[in-house]
Amino acid sequence: MRYLSTRGHADRKQFCEILLEGLAPDGGLYLPETYPQVDAATLEKWRAVYRDSGYADLAFEVLSLYIDDIPAADLKTLCRKTYTEQVFGTPEIVPLRQLEPGLYLEALSNGPTLAFKDMAMQLLGNLFEYELARRGEELNILGATSGDTGSAAEYAMRGKKGVRVFMTSPQGRMSPFQQAQMFSLQDANIHNIAIEGVFDDCQDIVKAVSNDLDFKRKYKIGTVNSINWARLLAQVVYYFAGYFQATTTGDQRVSFTVPSGNFGNVCAGHVARMMGLPIEKLVVATNENDVLDEFFRTGVYRVRASADTHETSSPSMDISKASNFERFVFDLLGRDAARLADLFGAQLSTQGRFDLSGDTTFQAAARHYGFASGKSTHADRLQTIRDTFARFGTMIDTHTADGLKVAREHLSAGVPMVVLETALPIKFAATIEEALGQSPPRPARFEGIEALPKRVRLMPADAALVQAYIASHVD
Ligand SMILES: *Cc1c(COP(=O)(O)O)cnc(C)c1O
Repeated sequence: MRYLSTRGHADRKQFCEILLEGLAPDGGLYLPETYPQVDAATLEKWRAVYRDSGYADLAFEVLSLYIDDIPAADLKTLCRKTYTEQVFGTPEIVPLRQLEPGLYLEALSNGPTLAFKDMAMQLLGNLFEYELARRGEELNILGATSGDTGSAAEYAMRGKKGVRVFMTSPQGRMSPFQQAQMFSLQDANIHNIAIEGVFDDCQDIVKAVSNDLDFKRKYKIGTVNSINWARLLAQVVYYFAGYFQATTTGDQRVSFTVPSGNFGNVCAGHVARMMGLPIEKLVVATNENDVLDEFFRTGVYRVRASADTHETSSPSMDISKASNFERFVFDLLGRDAARLADLFGAQLSTQGRFDLSGDTTFQAAARHYGFASGKSTHADRLQTIRDTFARFGTMIDTHTADGLKVAREHLSAGVPMVVLETALPIKFAATIEEALGQSPPRPARFEGIEALPKRVRLMPADAALVQAYIASHVD
């Protein structure tokens, strides 16, 4: 399998080459040259693999179609090391729970940091360690987080050989639980940097450091952001696992609703469908930051300024643009790389928007791909959390509530609807308390983490200071 850039660069790369890279050299995103096709017989074989040997072996089946530069036995070992009951809490790894007939929650949030990002990041940690050891190289991951990504990355990389993490976060802006999760880590290779500023300041620092090419090369700076293809690929697996749990035979169709921010999670669903998984509808759920809902309703993609990006009670979906969206549009427009370079390179940077509403390819493809969307507000979240708790005794987090609210608007008779649960309620306790007047349950391993000693360095928003900190903490 070779990988290409959405913007037409001539290079074709192997999986392990793009594993440690961010954007393609032309600013595009990597995608496989073709999507491997899963026929009916293979689908039933995989159903049996998941049922009889478990999620790790299903992951191996999916991943081995895309990764041919890691020996199969090694890849299988990496999958089995990653997806264990011990790390993810259940033998199914992503158990499906019925709320009412035809409506399900797929639990993706029982990993180490209680959000679905663990599903991909845990695998990434093991892949990085494997590939860096093979090359005899080291990597210093620099990131910016407002919550879930940073903690998922730190818990995936802690103690891993050859990797250090330098994670910036806006001082005082994460939930107390998220802060405690990150800052209580005592591993020597994990570095928390609290920036006196907002999330955009953190992102600007990461950009400035990454644009300093000499520094980047000298200190082997890398990222783990959501555009990483390996993360997306890892997420494809749970669409198959969800499908197998919601159906008994491969002639049935299933819809998924996905609480969306950077379009990584739902893009993995798109890939699963391109491989032949019988998905009826992929429903994109947004909060008040409705860039994606607007696109699917109108064909206009309009990125927001920071000032127009709302701080909401589902903060992991508070985005101004959807960084994985380019991958989907590439397929939507028949993989026309020149067109993509114009839309995402030229038009977005000069006009901040593009408009596909009059485009006949878009109209035909939009029907063909069966995407749908909707949005949810703070009031909707409170209402959905209350209603779900009252009727089913199930406590859901704010992002999953956005998903469930929108899912109910897209139900069709006879087609199971699976809502992806993207975090556990304890991560966003304040809103749960507002909705229910009671605190969400806390897994035993997180009892009292707010009181643990904190390992964090506070700094003004200045890239040079972050660079100096990295330089002094790399051997
Ligand atoms: C990251 C995140 C999302 C958004 O996922 P994308 O892949 O960026 O669309 C939704 N919910 C939670 C809890 C998250 O952490």
